[in-house]
Amino acid sequence: MSDAPAIERENLLGLTRPELEAFVRELGSEPFRARQLWSWMYKRGEARFEAMTDLAKSFRAQLAERAQIRVPEIVTSQQSADGTRKWLLRADEKQAFEMVFIPEPDRGTLCISSQVGCALDCSFCSTAQQGFNRNLTTAEIVGQVWLANRELGTSGLPDERAVTNVVLMGMGEPLANFRNVVPALRIFTDDLGFDLSRRRVTLSTSGLVPQIYKLAEEVNVALAVSLHAPDDELRNELVPINRLHPIAELLEACWHYLDEQNGRSITFEYVMLDGINDSPAQACTLAKLLKGHPAKINLIPFNPFPGTRYQRSPAPAIQRFKEELLERGLIATVRRTRGDDIDAACGQLAGRVIDRTTVRLGNKIIGVAVQP
Ligand code: SAH
Repeated sequence: MSDAPAIERENLLGLTRPELEAFVRELGSEPFRARQLWSWMYKRGEARFEAMTDLAKSFRAQLAERAQIRVPEIVTSQQSADGTRKWLLRADEKQAFEMVFIPEPDRGTLCISSQVGCALDCSFCSTAQQGFNRNLTTAEIVGQVWLANRELGTSGLPDERAVTNVVLMGMGEPLANFRNVVPALRIFTDDLGFDLSRRRVTLSTSGLVPQIYKLAEEVNVALAVSLHAPDDELRNELVPINRLHPIAELLEACWHYLDEQNGRSITFEYVMLDGINDSPAQACTLAKLLKGHPAKINLIPFNPFPGTRYQRSPAPAIQRFKEELLERGLIATVRRTRGDDIDAACGQLAGRVIDRTTVRLGNKIIGVAVQP
């Protein structure tokens, strides 16, 4: 029946290559058809089976009956004065998550979410205040890139795709959704998938140490780590997962990751909070921690949100902090704030998270929010 309810049809988006091959075989077709389907879905951004003209008509009819290519539905979309765009996407009747597109002259970066909400409870992050609802599926993760390319149309860039870089820096802790994030990373970098170079896909983590080791064995993408403090005492307060995995352990996992992957460097994100972590002495401690290692420090001016107790460090303090690092031989940059007029800047993504199943703090996070 061609008008069977959508939920009964298998969503082909987000299936791994072996999974799609198995599905195609089940329909009685050759496994190489899976390659063609992948290429239609990701390289050409096609969601309509009838448009996939190099597939037999009968196969297309079968697909239309048994399968679908379903991307998240857009609830709202906003555009910032600086060109940054933000979309609110539906997770279900009540919940929603966000993605942000940041255009630059030489690239287009899509910042995607990996969870509805977040359980890690970093004290300066607006997503944390929402609590945690659920993990996004692989289809919902790759669907964000698919959707952004469609919404933005061709951009005039050489490869005609609007999204040239993907960063998992939206809502959620990607390594807490390991099972669904890893297949998505493969689809981003596979040459029949979105075919993005490994250096153009960045996973940002608050520091789930065991999952960093696991990731090193699975995929090869750039890693960014939310450090935010030069010592455990302060980091325990700002990034509570630090109580389980303190800085020394985290850094060891980072260097291991680079070794395994032949990576060039790790980016350490450091949010600049007025009077909290922005003193020259703290810059000096941070420099000692990272000196001699392949590290880049990305200073992020704090983006405020309603109810926060923090303030952004003044520009001269950020500059001074950066210079302290540079003087000690480190590479440090200041992230330019984009899209803050539409609450699209780092840490401002709140989505719509209701029905929180979250637990806050400590060991319980591991039990509930992190997949085995
Ligand atoms: N959970 C992952 C992915 C989120 S990435 C992680 O923690 O890395 C989002 C980045 O923005 C992180 O570095 C995060 O610490 C930072 N951030 C969070 N809240 C912020 C805020 N209010 N202002 C600026 N940066 C913030």
